Amino acid sequence: MTMSAKLMVGNWKMHGSLSANAALVADVLAVMGQVQCRSALCVPSVYLGQMQSLLSCSPIALGAQDVSSHASGAYTGEVSADMLRDFAVRYCIVGHSERRQYHSETDIVVAIKAQRALAVGITPIVCVGESLAEREAGQTELVVKRQLAAVIQANGHCISEIVVAYEPVWAIGTGLTASPQQAQQVHAVLRAQLRAATAHADRVAILYGGSMNAANAQDLLAQPDVDGGLIGGASLKAVDFLSMLKAASR
Ligand code: PEP
Repeated sequence: MTMSAKLMVGNWKMHGSLSANAALVADVLAVMGQVQCRSALCVPSVYLGQMQSLLSCSPIALGAQDVSSHASGAYTGEVSADMLRDFAVRYCIVGHSERRQYHSETDIVVAIKAQRALAVGITPIVCVGESLAEREAGQTELVVKRQLAAVIQANGHCISEIVVAYEPVWAIGTGLTASPQQAQQVHAVLRAQLRAATAHADRVAILYGGSMNAANAQDLLAQPDVDGGLIGGASLKAVDFLSMLKAASR
Protein backbone atom coordinates (compact mmCIF):
# COMPACT_ATOMS: atom_id res chain seq x y z
CA MET A 1 0.00 0.00 0.00
CA THR A 2 1.34 3.47 -0.80
CA MET A 3 0.94 6.19 1.77
CA SER A 4 0.11 9.00 -0.66
CA ALA A 5 -3.32 10.05 -1.91
CA LYS A 6 -5.01 7.83 -4.48
CA LEU A 7 -4.34 8.65 -8.14
CA MET A 8 -7.30 8.68 -10.54
CA VAL A 9 -6.48 8.94 -14.24
CA GLY A 10 -8.96 9.42 -17.06
CA ASN A 11 -8.09 7.90 -20.43
CA TRP A 12 -10.17 9.64 -23.07
CA LYS A 13 -8.90 7.28 -25.80
CA MET A 14 -9.87 8.61 -29.28
CA HIS A 15 -12.79 10.71 -28.05
CA GLY A 16 -13.28 14.45 -27.80
CA SER A 17 -13.44 17.68 -29.75
CA LEU A 18 -12.41 21.24 -28.92
CA SER A 19 -15.91 22.09 -27.74
CA ALA A 20 -16.64 18.81 -25.95
CA ASN A 21 -13.29 18.93 -24.10
CA ALA A 22 -13.91 22.49 -22.90
CA ALA A 23 -17.39 21.59 -21.64
CA LEU A 24 -16.24 18.41 -19.87
CA VAL A 25 -13.29 20.10 -18.16
CA ALA A 26 -15.45 23.03 -17.04
CA ASP A 27 -17.95 20.63 -15.45
CA VAL A 28 -15.21 18.68 -13.67
CA LEU A 29 -13.28 21.71 -12.45
CA ALA A 30 -16.44 23.30 -11.05
CA VAL A 31 -16.54 20.70 -8.26
CA MET A 32 -12.86 19.86 -7.82
CA GLY A 33 -12.89 21.69 -4.47
CA GLN A 34 -14.55 18.59 -2.96
CA VAL A 35 -11.85 16.25 -4.24
CA GLN A 36 -8.73 15.30 -2.28
CA CYS A 37 -7.19 12.58 -4.45
CA ARG A 38 -4.58 13.14 -7.18
CA SER A 39 -5.95 13.19 -10.71
CA ALA A 40 -4.90 13.37 -14.33
CA LEU A 41 -6.48 13.32 -17.79
CA CYS A 42 -4.76 11.48 -20.65
CA VAL A 43 -6.00 13.09 -23.84
CA PRO A 44 -5.41 12.66 -27.60
CA SER A 45 -2.14 14.40 -28.49
CA VAL A 46 -3.75 16.94 -30.82
CA TYR A 47 -5.57 18.37 -27.78
CA LEU A 48 -2.52 18.71 -25.51
CA GLY A 49 -2.19 22.44 -26.24
CA GLN A 50 -5.85 23.09 -25.52
CA MET A 51 -5.77 20.96 -22.38
CA GLN A 52 -2.54 22.53 -21.14
CA SER A 53 -4.29 25.88 -20.97
CA LEU A 54 -7.60 24.48 -19.65
CA LEU A 55 -5.84 22.60 -16.83
CA SER A 56 -3.20 25.19 -15.96
CA CYS A 57 -3.62 26.32 -12.34
CA SER A 58 -5.97 23.39 -11.75
CA PRO A 59 -5.30 20.34 -9.56
CA ILE A 60 -5.70 18.01 -12.56
CA ALA A 61 -2.44 16.95 -14.21
CA LEU A 62 -2.08 16.60 -17.96
CA GLY A 63 -1.39 13.20 -19.48
CA ALA A 64 -0.76 11.67 -22.90
CA GLN A 65 -1.87 8.26 -24.14
CA ASP A 66 1.32 7.13 -25.86
CA VAL A 67 4.86 8.24 -26.70
CA SER A 68 7.25 7.24 -29.44
CA SER A 69 9.98 4.72 -28.63
CA HIS A 70 12.30 6.91 -30.73
CA ALA A 71 13.87 10.15 -29.54
CA SER A 72 13.38 12.03 -32.86
CA GLY A 73 13.79 11.52 -36.57
CA ALA A 74 11.98 10.20 -39.64
CA TYR A 75 9.02 8.57 -37.86
CA THR A 76 5.99 10.09 -39.55
CA GLY A 77 3.03 10.51 -37.23
CA GLU A 78 4.95 9.79 -34.05
CA VAL A 79 5.12 12.11 -31.02
CA SER A 80 8.32 12.18 -28.96
CA ALA A 81 8.76 12.47 -25.20
CA ASP A 82 10.43 15.87 -25.66
CA MET A 83 7.36 17.09 -27.56
CA LEU A 84 5.09 15.93 -24.75
CA ARG A 85 7.26 17.74 -22.24
CA ASP A 86 6.86 20.94 -24.29
CA PHE A 87 3.18 20.82 -23.29
CA ALA A 88 3.90 20.23 -19.59
CA VAL A 89 2.69 16.64 -19.78
CA ARG A 90 3.14 14.92 -16.37
CA TYR A 91 1.96 11.38 -17.16
CA CYS A 92 2.02 9.19 -20.23
CA ILE A 93 0.23 5.87 -20.63
CA VAL A 94 2.50 3.23 -22.18
CA GLY A 95 1.60 -0.27 -23.25
CA HIS A 96 -2.18 0.13 -23.11
CA SER A 97 -3.68 -3.16 -24.25
CA GLU A 98 -5.21 -1.41 -27.26
CA ARG A 99 -1.69 -0.41 -28.37
CA ARG A 100 -0.33 -3.87 -27.68
CA GLN A 101 -3.22 -5.41 -29.62
CA TYR A 102 -3.80 -3.05 -32.57
CA HIS A 103 -0.27 -1.67 -32.95
CA SER A 104 1.67 -4.82 -32.10
CA GLU A 105 3.61 -3.23 -29.26
CA THR A 106 5.89 -5.77 -27.61
CA ASP A 107 7.06 -5.83 -24.00
CA ILE A 108 10.42 -4.46 -25.15
CA VAL A 109 8.87 -1.55 -27.07
CA VAL A 110 6.72 -0.71 -24.04
CA ALA A 111 9.81 -0.79 -21.82
CA ILE A 112 11.66 1.61 -24.16
CA LYS A 113 8.65 3.95 -24.22
CA ALA A 114 8.69 4.00 -20.41
CA GLN A 115 12.40 4.82 -20.59
CA ARG A 116 11.80 7.70 -23.04
CA ALA A 117 9.19 9.21 -20.73
CA LEU A 118 11.33 8.85 -17.59
CA ALA A 119 14.30 10.44 -19.36
CA VAL A 120 12.39 13.72 -19.73
CA GLY A 121 10.72 13.66 -16.32
CA ILE A 122 7.33 12.31 -17.44
CA THR A 123 5.82 9.53 -15.31
CA PRO A 124 4.96 6.52 -17.47
CA ILE A 125 1.74 4.72 -16.56
CA VAL A 126 2.74 1.20 -17.55
CA CYS A 127 -0.26 -0.98 -18.39
CA VAL A 128 -0.16 -4.73 -17.85
CA GLY A 129 -2.95 -7.27 -18.02
CA GLU A 130 -3.99 -10.69 -19.19
CA SER A 131 -6.51 -11.67 -21.86
CA LEU A 132 -9.52 -13.83 -21.03
CA ALA A 133 -7.86 -16.86 -22.61
CA GLU A 134 -4.75 -16.28 -20.50
CA ARG A 135 -6.81 -15.96 -17.31
CA GLU A 136 -8.73 -19.13 -18.11
CA ALA A 137 -5.45 -20.94 -18.75
CA GLY A 138 -4.23 -19.88 -15.29
CA GLN A 139 -1.53 -17.63 -16.77
CA THR A 140 -2.53 -14.29 -15.25
CA GLU A 141 0.47 -13.95 -12.92
CA LEU A 142 2.89 -15.20 -15.54
CA VAL A 143 1.68 -12.65 -18.11
CA VAL A 144 1.62 -9.57 -15.88
CA LYS A 145 5.00 -10.45 -14.36
CA ARG A 146 6.54 -10.90 -17.81
CA GLN A 147 5.15 -7.53 -18.94
CA LEU A 148 6.40 -5.70 -15.84
CA ALA A 149 9.76 -7.51 -15.85
CA ALA A 150 10.64 -6.00 -19.24
CA VAL A 151 10.04 -2.50 -17.86
CA ILE A 152 12.00 -3.22 -14.67
CA GLN A 153 14.91 -4.60 -16.64
CA ALA A 154 15.11 -1.60 -18.98
CA ASN A 155 14.69 1.04 -16.31
CA GLY A 156 16.81 -0.11 -13.36
CA HIS A 157 16.79 2.17 -10.35
CA CYS A 158 14.26 4.55 -12.01
CA ILE A 159 11.58 1.92 -11.55
CA SER A 160 10.29 3.56 -8.38
CA GLU A 161 9.30 6.56 -10.55
CA ILE A 162 6.72 4.71 -12.64
CA VAL A 163 3.01 4.13 -12.14
CA VAL A 164 1.66 0.66 -12.94
CA ALA A 165 -1.89 0.02 -14.15
CA TYR A 166 -3.29 -3.48 -13.88
CA GLU A 167 -5.86 -3.68 -16.67
CA PRO A 168 -7.26 -7.14 -17.36
CA VAL A 169 -7.92 -7.05 -21.11
CA TRP A 170 -11.27 -8.83 -20.66
CA ALA A 171 -12.46 -5.98 -18.44
CA ILE A 172 -11.55 -3.01 -20.67
CA GLY A 173 -14.59 -1.40 -22.23
CA THR A 174 -16.62 -4.57 -21.72
CA GLY A 175 -18.62 -3.72 -18.60
CA LEU A 176 -16.96 -6.72 -16.91
CA THR A 177 -14.89 -5.72 -13.89
CA ALA A 178 -12.37 -7.71 -11.90
CA SER A 179 -13.77 -8.32 -8.43
CA PRO A 180 -11.98 -6.39 -5.69
CA GLN A 181 -10.40 -9.70 -4.60
CA GLN A 182 -9.21 -10.55 -8.13
CA ALA A 183 -7.72 -7.06 -8.47
CA GLN A 184 -6.02 -7.18 -5.06
CA GLN A 185 -4.53 -10.58 -5.80
CA VAL A 186 -2.79 -9.33 -8.96
CA HIS A 187 -1.82 -6.00 -7.40
CA ALA A 188 -0.12 -7.88 -4.55
CA VAL A 189 1.86 -9.93 -7.08
CA LEU A 190 2.96 -6.74 -8.87
CA ARG A 191 3.90 -5.08 -5.56
CA ALA A 192 6.03 -8.07 -4.59
CA GLN A 193 7.77 -7.92 -7.97
CA LEU A 194 8.46 -4.20 -7.50
CA ARG A 195 9.76 -4.85 -3.95
CA ALA A 196 12.25 -7.32 -5.32
CA ALA A 197 13.47 -4.62 -7.75
CA THR A 198 13.57 -1.52 -5.56
CA ALA A 199 13.63 -0.50 -1.93
CA HIS A 200 11.04 2.15 -2.85
CA ALA A 201 8.28 -0.10 -4.18
CA ASP A 202 5.74 1.43 -1.82
CA ARG A 203 6.11 4.73 -3.69
CA VAL A 204 4.80 3.15 -6.89
CA ALA A 205 1.06 3.67 -7.38
CA ILE A 206 -0.60 0.55 -8.79
CA LEU A 207 -3.86 1.54 -10.47
CA TYR A 208 -6.73 -0.74 -11.43
CA GLY A 209 -8.36 -0.28 -14.83
CA GLY A 210 -11.17 -2.11 -16.60
CA SER A 211 -14.77 -0.89 -16.52
CA MET A 212 -14.24 0.99 -13.28
CA ASN A 213 -17.31 3.10 -12.71
CA ALA A 214 -19.16 5.15 -10.11
CA ALA A 215 -20.81 2.02 -8.68
CA ASN A 216 -17.76 -0.22 -8.26
CA ALA A 217 -14.94 2.29 -7.64
CA GLN A 218 -15.22 2.42 -3.87
CA ASP A 219 -14.91 -1.35 -3.30
CA LEU A 220 -11.95 -1.62 -5.68
CA LEU A 221 -10.21 1.38 -4.11
CA ALA A 222 -10.66 -0.11 -0.63
CA GLN A 223 -8.20 -2.90 -1.42
CA PRO A 224 -4.80 -2.40 0.24
CA ASP A 225 -2.76 -2.50 -2.97
CA VAL A 226 -5.19 -0.59 -5.21
CA ASP A 227 -3.73 2.91 -5.21
CA GLY A 228 -6.10 4.43 -7.74
CA GLY A 229 -7.79 3.88 -11.07
CA LEU A 230 -7.27 4.20 -14.81
CA ILE A 231 -10.67 5.02 -16.20
CA GLY A 232 -11.76 4.93 -19.83
CA GLY A 233 -15.45 5.23 -20.65
CA ALA A 234 -16.55 6.63 -17.29
CA SER A 235 -14.02 9.47 -17.50
CA LEU A 236 -15.96 10.96 -20.42
CA LYS A 237 -18.95 11.81 -18.24
CA ALA A 238 -18.28 14.59 -15.73
CA VAL A 239 -20.79 13.27 -13.19
CA ASP A 240 -19.36 9.74 -13.23
CA PHE A 241 -15.73 10.84 -13.20
CA LEU A 242 -16.39 13.21 -10.30
CA SER A 243 -18.14 10.59 -8.24
CA MET A 244 -15.13 8.32 -8.71
CA LEU A 245 -12.76 11.12 -7.71
CA LYS A 246 -14.86 11.60 -4.59
CA ALA A 247 -14.79 7.86 -3.85
CA ALA A 248 -10.99 8.06 -4.07
CA SER A 249 -10.90 11.01 -1.69
CA ARG A 250 -12.31 9.08 1.29
C1 PEP B 1 -8.88 2.10 -20.24
O1 PEP B 1 -9.05 2.67 -21.31
O2 PEP B 1 -7.74 2.04 -19.76
C2 PEP B 1 -10.04 1.50 -19.57
C3 PEP B 1 -9.86 0.90 -18.43
O3 PEP B 1 -11.24 1.61 -20.22
P1 PEP B 1 -12.70 1.34 -19.56
O4 PEP B 1 -12.71 2.04 -18.22
O5 PEP B 1 -13.65 1.93 -20.53
O6 PEP B 1 -12.84 -0.13 -19.39
